[in-house]
Amino acid sequence: MTERVLQKRRRQYRASIPGARKASYQKKYDKAMSGRDPKAAIAAKCLDCMHWQRTRVRECPIVCCPLWPYRPFTTDPPDTAPSHARRT
Ligand code: SF4
Repeated sequence: MTERVLQKRRRQYRASIPGARKASYQKKYDKAMSGRDPKAAIAAKCLDCMHWQRTRVRECPIVCCPLWPYRPFTTDPPDTAPSHARRT
């Protein structure tokens, strides 16, 4: 993939980020894609996974996901699965 195609895809993805927090999430995506901010990368991935809704990230039931202990917007201890969590 050429650099030009790669940049175009990233621009399209960035522009497609929805919601009222779009600008904030775009900033997070930019930080993630800089390759220098792993926390931003995890947050951006979790937000993408949960359709850019922080509540859904906080309540993520996919406790077997390798990112689950690191997901943002929660104060849960890493080993505390939510009561509604499913084993997937
Ligand atoms: S922890 Fe949950 S929200 Fe984050 S990537 Fe995994 S499944 Fe998606």
